[in-house]
Amino acid sequence: MRIETIYQSLGVSARVFQYGERVLDALAPRFAQIDATAEYNQCKVLHAMQRNHVNAAHFAATTGYGYNDEGRDNLERVYADVFHTEAALVRPQITCGTHALAVALGANLLPGDELLSPVGAPYDTLEEVIGIRESAGSLKEYGVRYAQVDLLPDGTFDYPAIARAIHAGTKMVTIQRSKGYAARPTFSVSQIGELIAFCKQCKPDLICMVDNCYGEFVEAREPSDAGADLVVGSLIKNPGGGLAPIGGYICGRGDLVARCAYRLSAPGLGQEVGANLGLMPAFYQGLFLAPTVTAGALKGAIFAANVYERLGFRCIPDAREPRHDIIQAVELGSREGMLAFCKGIQRAAPVDSYVDPVPWPMPGYDADVIMAAGAFVQGSSIELSADGPVRPPYAVFFQGGLTWYHAKLGILMSLQSLLDAGLVDWKEEA
Ligand SMILES: *Cc1c(COP(=O)(O)O)cnc(C)c1O
Repeated sequence: MRIETIYQSLGVSARVFQYGERVLDALAPRFAQIDATAEYNQCKVLHAMQRNHVNAAHFAATTGYGYNDEGRDNLERVYADVFHTEAALVRPQITCGTHALAVALGANLLPGDELLSPVGAPYDTLEEVIGIRESAGSLKEYGVRYAQVDLLPDGTFDYPAIARAIHAGTKMVTIQRSKGYAARPTFSVSQIGELIAFCKQCKPDLICMVDNCYGEFVEAREPSDAGADLVVGSLIKNPGGGLAPIGGYICGRGDLVARCAYRLSAPGLGQEVGANLGLMPAFYQGLFLAPTVTAGALKGAIFAANVYERLGFRCIPDAREPRHDIIQAVELGSREGMLAFCKGIQRAAPVDSYVDPVPWPMPGYDADVIMAAGAFVQGSSIELSADGPVRPPYAVFFQGGLTWYHAKLGILMSLQSLLDAGLVDWKEEA
C-alpha cells in the first residue's frame, strides 16, 4: 500500500505530496525538539494529576448550584499545579478566551485605575472589552482608563516609553503572548519574563496579566513561571486538548483569582458555585492530552511556514524561527488566495469537509472574517483551522490539528487548492 495512493484518494496529487515530502526531509531535528518539549509537559501534567489524587469520583456530573463540587475544585488545583500558581479558576461558565480575559480585567480594575498594554494593540475582541472601540459594558464605560505603548519597528519592547507610561494610577499590565491577528512576533516566555520584571521595577505592585491564548505547552515554562500574576486562556485552544467543548481558565495569585471568581459568579459566592454539568471527564482528559495535541499543531505550523516560504509567500513566524505559539500566518496577498487556502483546509476536515467557507461579518471584528474549520467542537481552533480578516495583507492564520497527520493533510490540501486555482506554481527540483 503506497501512501501516495491514499493521499490521492483524499485529493492530494502526487506532485503536491512529493513537494511536501521534500520540505519535511529538512525538518526532522526541529520535530525532535518539539517532541522533547511535549514529553516534559506530559510529565508536568501527570505530576499535577498524581499529586492531587485524581480519581473517578472527580468525573461525576453536578447540576444546580454546584456546591462542594469536588471534581471541579480538584481540577482547579491541578491547573494551579501545572501553572505553578496559588490558585486557578477553570470553568465551563467561562464561555471563551475573550470572556476569561474580560473577567480577569473587570475583576481587578476599578474606576480610575489604568490598564497598560506595553506590547501594542491587543487582540481584536479585547478592543471592545477595554473600550478602544466604543462598546456597551466596556471597561471604559466604568471609568477604567487605557494606555498603550507600541512595539518598536523591529518588534521589541520600547522600554523608555513603557517607563514613561507607568504612573501612580497604573494598576494592571496586559501582555498578549501570541501575535493574534497582528503582523508582529509572538513573545517567548523569557521575553515576557524580562518585560514583567521591568514593569515591576517601575512599580512593584503592578498586576501583570498575560493573555496566554495559543501559547500553552509550546514551551516547557509558562508565563506564570516568569513572574506573571495572572495567566488567562481558552479551553477550546491548547489546554482543552480538543476534548473540552467550552471553557476558560485563569491561573494566578490567590487574591486576584478570588476576585475573578466573584466577578464571574457574584460577590459573596465566588468559586463556591458553578455546576460542572458533566464536563469534568473532557476537562481532565483534554488537559492530559494537551501537550501531545499542542506538539502536533506546532509541527503543522512549522511545516506550513516551510511549504509556503519556499513558494515566495511571507510567513510569520518564518520557516526557521523558534516558536512560542501554534499560530502560523501566511500572507497570500489576495482575497482569492485566502479563499483558496481556506477551501483546501476545509476539504481536509473530518467534519463539514464538503462545504466551502465564505467571509462573514463576525461579531467583535472590524472586517469580514473567513474561517475554515471542520471541527468536532464548533469554532475550536486547536482543531485544524484557518482564518483571518479579509483585508490587506490578506494573511491567513493557520492553527491547530489534533494530530500531526491531520495538520499535514490540511497544508497539502491548501497547497493543492492554490495550485488548482493557478495562484501558485513551482519548478520540480532535480
Ligand atoms: C483566541 C484569542 C483570544 C480570544 O479568545 P476567544 O476564545 O476567541 O474569545 C484572545 N487573545 C488571543 C491572543 C487569542 O488568540
